[in-house]
Amino acid sequence: DAAGIDAGGTLVKIAYVKGGVRRLCKFRSDRLTEAADWLRKELPAAPLCLTGGKGAKLAALIGRDTEMMPEFEATCAGIRLLLPPALGESAFLLANVGTGTSVHVIDGERNLRIGGTGLGGGTIVGLARLLTGLDEYEAIVTAAAKGDRGTADLKVRHIYEGMEPPIDGDLTASNFGRVFPGAVIGSGEEGSISREDALASVIGMVGEAVATLCVHAAAAHGVKTIVYIGSSFNGNAPLRQAVESYTRFRGGEPHFVENGEFSGALGALLRL
Ligand code: ADP
Repeated sequence: DAAGIDAGGTLVKIAYVKGGVRRLCKFRSDRLTEAADWLRKELPAAPLCLTGGKGAKLAALIGRDTEMMPEFEATCAGIRLLLPPALGESAFLLANVGTGTSVHVIDGERNLRIGGTGLGGGTIVGLARLLTGLDEYEAIVTAAAKGDRGTADLKVRHIYEGMEPPIDGDLTASNFGRVFPGAVIGSGEEGSISREDALASVIGMVGEAVATLCVHAAAAHGVKTIVYIGSSFNGNAPLRQAVESYTRFRGGEPHFVENGEFSGALGALLRL
């Protein structure tokens, strides 16, 4: 038995082997004791390797000898287990959209962190709470999926009104650029914006910003394939859609990896 644990800003991801079977599970990072209690009960004697920003804190709660490993190393090692073999053959960009976003170039055994942005899943949750009062992730993404970005976002064609725009008129000219003076969320009155529409625009903004960063980084490093991972895509079709369509529009090749958010945990498990 053994476990690799990635304790991130929002979620603790665990990849473990018990009785010869490999399994994955998650806990909330704001309830680290639940993860520690579970590990002590389920894997009382198994070697553990931890990674992620809250790894040391969780290790202290577990209270026994554990290994530690740097998170970027773990993520880049673990992603190999999840990719279709053909994909890992040439260099690709890895974008880990977690609480924030981290971007890497992976070429064979080499990996290089080339940047990131504070825009990520945490931004979606934080702005959603401020704008709508919805606190829970599930409620936020369910509401956003019913929304329409066309209410709050200004497109290029809105600015060019009837004229031929110099770039695709359907592109976003300004995220939230169509919110007029006095607009309020959810009042139902003329000029107001529904919660659903506001949330759809929040997600669209994060998705476009992340994809923009990635296509530029990919171009700078001469790669086309962009592999997107992170729990931020879980149950969040609008985010996936925004990232996918913008990446394709800019000539990149987006891939979304099932269970990709467990890359760090799997990389840590591999270490044991
Ligand atoms: P980290 O390693 O920083 O914790 P993750 O890859 O686990 O990052 O992604 C965290 C993000 O995933 C959150 O900011 C949120 O947008 C989204 N998310 C998905 N499922 C949940 C959940 N059950 N609770 C909270 N956030 C979730």
